[in-house]
Amino acid sequence: MSELSDLYQEVILDHNKNPRNFREIENADKHADGNNPLCGDQLKVFLSMEGDTVKDVSFLGSGCAISKASASMMTQAVKGKTRKEAETLFDEFHRMVLGELDPESEDTHLGKLKIFAGVLEFPARVKCASLSWHTMHAALEGEEEISTE
Ligand code: ZN
Repeated sequence: MSELSDLYQEVILDHNKNPRNFREIENADKHADGNNPLCGDQLKVFLSMEGDTVKDVSFLGSGCAISKASASMMTQAVKGKTRKEAETLFDEFHRMVLGELDPESEDTHLGKLKIFAGVLEFPARVKCASLSWHTMHAALEGEEEISTE
């Protein structure tokens, strides 16, 4: 378990320092603002669609290291996926951080995202980790604002 925690910390620190796809997409097809008042995380997710496929995805905002690292990894995971695949990832990620899905014993598409199973040990951080996913989901659904409260 401590091995997983080390990896978790390393990945979070890396993505927090060098967030991937941290930019605005001009003329984005979809975007949404996500707000986690419990922690103060605020981010905006941009999506550029090509038919049913997420051609490009990015985010901007400020927040704690976990929210930022999670957003960074969310963009990497969702880019190039179909809308349905992106929604499947959202569902799996969401259930994993709530403890409803065990990525070690169940088949998932989560890959590297499995490290966020670590937030289960820190209930206050669950909303930080899932904020970008809720925001991406809202953008896909055509909603422009979400709050975790
Ligand atoms: Zn946070």
